[in-house]
Amino acid sequence: MTTLQRPKDQSSWALANIDAKCRMLLYARLWQLCAKEVSVTTTLMHMCDLTGPTASPPNAHGLPTTLPYTCQYAMDMAYAAPPGPHKTMQKFKHCLCRMLLTMVNTSNVTSEMRGIHKNPELSWPRVWTNLHAAGLSNSINSTWYAAIHDTVSTNEQLAAIHLTTTMSCSQCGTTDTLIHRITKCEEGPVIRNWMRARLAALLRVHPKHVSEEWTLHPSFHYWPPQKQAVIVWISWST
Ligand SMILES: [Zn+2]
Repeated sequence: MTTLQRPKDQSSWALANIDAKCRMLLYARLWQLCAKEVSVTTTLMHMCDLTGPTASPPNAHGLPTTLPYTCQYAMDMAYAAPPGPHKTMQKFKHCLCRMLLTMVNTSNVTSEMRGIHKNPELSWPRVWTNLHAAGLSNSINSTWYAAIHDTVSTNEQLAAIHLTTTMSCSQCGTTDTLIHRITKCEEGPVIRNWMRARLAALLRVHPKHVSEEWTLHPSFHYWPPQKQAVIVWISWST
């Protein structure tokens, strides 16, 4: 999830932080229930002494462990300023959201994805820019996103964590790596050679200069943008 929340030029789809957003909606609703309505939830919140500002530093002891959202509410709302008489619910929600995002961002210790860790020398901002600018279908984009991040379950990876007994490809017996699946197995070489010939003609170079790595890590950059777009499209659409 932390990967998805990053900006597009840092390997992500730039999605909102779903966790913080859901918590904001829940807390705002609980606050409204406590302030205005009489319900089972309101009674429960009264019993837990959670109908106003919660104590800081937060203390979840004594709260019903069978209702974990009350514990989380007590912990998080200790850092939220009460809405006050003149603050609208919309502004209260914005403040809650900012507070929760700050907490999430400061507590998350993000580690690089495996693909980046294994190839730190690549220009990763360029790889992500190419991926998002390729104009491919969502399904192809998702496939390449998984391939670039090295999250495709090959037998080589499964054997490394003892989920299978062999690293060999079930089709040809060679070590089942990602690059093997894409460019070397079954119809892979035919497609690969066709693509390599087209790119070589476009770039006016010998096919040997069209790197196999482009298939997995398109960190190249050509000018003008139209040429770059065509090369990216051919590299991945085939
Ligand atoms: Zn194979």
